[in-house]
Amino acid sequence: MSARRIFCRFCGAAGSHRFGKDRQRRQRFKCPHCSKIFTLRTRTAKSGSQLSDEQWRMALRLFSLRAGMSGTDLSAVLCVHRRTGQKLNRILRRLTVGLRPRTLPGVSEWDESMFSKQWVLGGVSRQSGQCLLQIVPNRTEETLVPIVERHSDPEGFVFTDEWGGYINLLRHMTVCHAREFVNPQATFVHTNTQEGVWGHAKALSWHTYRGIPKPSLPQFLCEIMFRYNIRSYQTRFSVLSALLSRKTNSLLS
Ligand SMILES: [Zn+2]
Repeated sequence: MSARRIFCRFCGAAGSHRFGKDRQRRQRFKCPHCSKIFTLRTRTAKSGSQLSDEQWRMALRLFSLRAGMSGTDLSAVLCVHRRTGQKLNRILRRLTVGLRPRTLPGVSEWDESMFSKQWVLGGVSRQSGQCLLQIVPNRTEETLVPIVERHSDPEGFVFTDEWGGYINLLRHMTVCHAREFVNPQATFVHTNTQEGVWGHAKALSWHTYRGIPKPSLPQFLCEIMFRYNIRSYQTRFSVLSALLSRKTNSLLS
């Protein structure tokens, strides 16, 4: 890689030049503008890590699998301590937080489900296939209606079950889950796509992770959305690779 293309990890200036190697034999660079010394890991999610690039690449590959892998299994594959595997999963999970969709175009299906004794509202767009999951304090109309209105398409229909919390939504059609799973008067009215999202989410939370700790639920929901919304393994891997080498100040903890 040409040193001329290396941008300073501290001030962003171009033209940093090679400046020896660090203890792990990684190339260091020195910025001509602020005189600070850095490597390509400085101020990225990999900063301060003792793991090799190959171990990071393998962790990224395994995290990009559709079903994911628990931190304990990951540590066994990478031959590292169990806590290192768990921390790797935590860092990669936090990278997915910014990928949450904002709106669901066209017709959307909405439903609620319980995770770690906490209600989660979920919606999925039939047009884009993207899902959106959000923790809600309860299932009242005051809570549910503003969220659904904010994230659904103002031109598109909203399909839900007959739960009273959705009753005042506009352009709204329902299916009565006490009687059937598809509205017999209009067979396109159902929430089966959203049921599929719950199936995907529960498989991850029950089988891969054996339960989700309540404080980490927001990050887990982002991971679930990342896995559902990006269908191809290669795209998930490329997106995570780009996020991992991006300059950041807040990912390590
Ligand atoms: Zn600089």
